This record gives sequence, structure tokens and C-alpha cells, in this order.
Amino acid sequence: MKATTQLIHSIPVDEQTGAIAVPIYQTSTFVQEAPGINKGFDYSRSNNPTRATLEKIVAELEGGSTGLAFASGLAAIDNVIKLLRSGDEVVAVDDIYGGAFRLFDKVYSQYGIKVTYVDTADLREIKRAITPATRLIWLETPTNPTLKISDIAAIAELAHAHRALLCVDNTFATPALQQPLKLGADIVVHSATKYLGGHSDIIAGVVVTAEPELGARLKFFQNATGNILGPFDSFLLIRGLETLHLRVREHCRNALAIAKYLEQHPAVDKVFYPGLSSHPNHLLAAKQQSAFGGVVSFTLKDDTEAAANAFVMSTELFKLAESLGGIKSLLCHPAQMTHKSIPADIRRANGVADSLIRLSIGLEDSEDLINDLEQTFKSIYQSVIKKHAPAFA
Ligand SMILES: *Cc1c(COP(=O)(O)O)cnc(C)c1O
Repeated sequence: MKATTQLIHSIPVDEQTGAIAVPIYQTSTFVQEAPGINKGFDYSRSNNPTRATLEKIVAELEGGSTGLAFASGLAAIDNVIKLLRSGDEVVAVDDIYGGAFRLFDKVYSQYGIKVTYVDTADLREIKRAITPATRLIWLETPTNPTLKISDIAAIAELAHAHRALLCVDNTFATPALQQPLKLGADIVVHSATKYLGGHSDIIAGVVVTAEPELGARLKFFQNATGNILGPFDSFLLIRGLETLHLRVREHCRNALAIAKYLEQHPAVDKVFYPGLSSHPNHLLAAKQQSAFGGVVSFTLKDDTEAAANAFVMSTELFKLAESLGGIKSLLCHPAQMTHKSIPADIRRANGVADSLIRLSIGLEDSEDLINDLEQTFKSIYQSVIKKHAPAFA
């Protein structure tokens, strides 16, 4: 069976009523027949039928054994870090999601967990960073916002040779394009707020493990800390997942068209999109992913915050907002928004230039999106860039 059919039919028909949509069990507790005798549910923090259905769907979707649904992507990441003890070390991708960096840097550093950041696209850098205390390698691939690609299969081998686990944040690729567990990773996490939900209407996170033992440990932490997704948001996430493959296919098609348009534009300096042959990791992306995702980043020849500001404030269809993966196209200026907390020199060294703009390509018609970008280039050329940087002309 193909993945789309499998996903749609992994969403069960309600046995009791025949309801084709998953019922929302908006209940805190469950009546017991006798003390400790119940129908598999006793309290909704521990287990809830709507959430349990969602967790089963995502586990299957990632090709894992255990799925768990959390209140946010960061809550999901937090639950995985609870596997570590004081003195343990993590090797993490340098272009990491800002919130994950803050969690490591400001929270888990207090508990004696050390994180070393390296360019995980280069295996030698990971090898150099691994110590006998390394318990976990943390990847995002593609990364945000420069869309760097790391070799999941090779890094899984390296992790296991050093008795470390590999966790992949699969938010950007989604299981529609890449299944890290099948490439040897032990754990996958998602900000389901993005493509899995897909409609910019929930905050949610997901963890899937390859092995049931690891899944059981994470489920224990989830119940012990009360870090769960509610029934209504679980329902919304299931509803979003139904169209995952359809949406992602169109996001990718639109994104490639826009990346090609940007690549030939005279005001654009660099375009970051793994689907372009100019991308340094294009071949690896083509091997590891079935398509290249819906996020495109680019820098302007006028590499200034002023030019980027003018750009992000002049689009009509692209809305200025953080987040990504929704139906409507969004754009953001990482230097002032998602990556504001990173010191400017470190940010620039990681390839996030002052003028870098990140686009989350939505499901509008690509011709309309390109027209929106074209009118924006024209208007900023008139109002800002000409004055600011005559060289651009
Ligand atoms: C958004 C995001 C997160 C955090 O998820 P929330 O749902 O906002 O808590 C983690 N990783 C990546 C790659 C993200 O884009």
C-alpha cells in the first residue's frame, strides 16, 4: 500500500458508532468497573482515547513503535532530554532551532548537561566532538533557516558505535519526505505546530521511538511530568494529518518554483533550497528525502537589515509571522525574529546574514506568489534600495 493510502486508513473508524471522524473524548476520568479494572483508560493525563489514536497514527507514519503527543514541539524535545543524567553530553547541530538552544543553554545546563554544537553536515566535526560522555546526537535536517542537510544513516552508525542515541527533529522534512527511524535514528521529534498540523491553528509536539523500551521510558516521563496534548488539539492534529501527503507535495512544488525564480533574480544574492543543484548538500538531500520541502531562504545583494525590513513589510500574500508549514505563505526575518537571541557574529558565521529572509511557501498558486515577490522587489527598489545601496542598480 502506498504511504498516502496507509496514512488515511490508519485513522480508525469508531467501533462503537461507525463515526468516520475520530471522536473527541473530552473527559478527565473514566468510570471503573472495580478498583483498577477499566477499559484501558483511567485518567486522561496517563491516557486518553483521542490522544492514543493520534499517537498510534504518528508512530505508524514515522515507521516507529511508540508515538507520544505533547503540548508543544519544545515540550516534546524536553521530554527526550529527560533521558539524560547530570554529566551526560550532547552533540547537536549548530544551526539548531532557537528554542531548543535556549532549553539546552538556560535550563539543562543547570542540571549538568553539556551540549557541543557542530556543523553536522561534516561527519569529521561530529567525530571530533564525541567524548566518552556523549549520550545523544541531536540533528535537524534540513535546518532552519539555511536548510543544511546532514547524513542521517552515517550519523546513526557513528552514534551507535559510541553507544549514543540519535534523535532527529523531523519538523522541516516531515515523514512524507523523510523517515529518520528507517535510516537508523532512535528517536524522531516534531513541532506538530508546523506541517503535521498544517493549518496554523494548534501548538503541538510529537515524539516517535524506534524501540518500545525507549518509548515506555518516554511515556513514563510524560505521565510523570503531565506534559500532554489535550483531546481537542489531538483531534485537530489528526484532521491535519489526513492531508499531509497532499499538502507537502504541493508545498514542495510551489517552493521549487519560487526557489528557481529567486535564483535568477538580479537583487538576490544567495538562495538556500536543497532542491537546487547549487545547494551544497543537494545530492545528499536527493538521496535521503523524496522531495525538498516548503521552506526557501534567500539573501539580498543589499545585505542590510534595512533592505530586508523593507522587503518583509512590502509583500501582500506572504504574511509577516514566525512559524511555518501552514496553508498561507509566511515570511520572516530571522535576524530580528526567530534568531534574535543569537549574537550577531555567531548568527552570521552560521550563514544567517543580515538580509536573510525565510519563506514558508503555502498552498496558494505559485504564479500569484511569484507575482507578489516580484511586486515587492520592484517596490523596495523604488523606495529603499536605490537610496540605500546604489550598487544594486
Ligand atoms: C517550531 C519548531 C520547534 C518548536 O516547536 P513548538 O511547537 O513551537 O514548541 C522545534 N523544532 C523546530 C525545527 C521548529 O521549527
